Amino acid sequence: MARTFALEIVTPDRLVLKKTVDSVTAASVSGEFTALPLHVPFLAALSVGNLSYRENGRLAYVFVSGGFAEVGPDKVLIMAEAAELPEEIDLDRARKASERAKARLEAQRAEKVDYVRAKAALQRAMARMKLLDVAATGGQSRSASRV
Ligand code: ATP
Repeated sequence: MARTFALEIVTPDRLVLKKTVDSVTAASVSGEFTALPLHVPFLAALSVGNLSYRENGRLAYVFVSGGFAEVGPDKVLIMAEAAELPEEIDLDRARKASERAKARLEAQRAEKVDYVRAKAALQRAMARMKLLDVAATGGQSRSASRV
């Protein structure tokens, strides 16, 4: 019986990851799912958050922002709007994006800004910072903050 399957993560501009893995866990708009070998096929719309996978028993993380997951018995294809490996995340950029988005949300009371857009930008920045935290601690996140 198959014990592994292919995981491929692509964005509109690049192939982010191609691996043979034991399992994949990701956040869809209707909740978290875990795909194992020989999983029944399904499609899921992805939300912003951490995708994790096990390769030879080792857990690893990828930041994924929106898009779709196509799950099949021998392959999971993630088509994300944006995706980054932990080593690709620019923490300073995420912090600045988070500050900008917070300032925009603050300014919302005074002037009309795009609240939904600012909130989505804040969610992405917080998720990138959380991923670095989770990836550095192997899942034992130091931060209690939720995205
Ligand atoms: P920013 O305001 O900093 O651009 P954003 O959340 O609006 O952040 P996205 O629209 O999610 O950015 O992504 C645009 C592109 O920039 C994607 O290719 C994404 O991988 C990359 N990117 C965004 N933020 C970071 C980051 N902190 N570190 C590395 N790459 C990033």
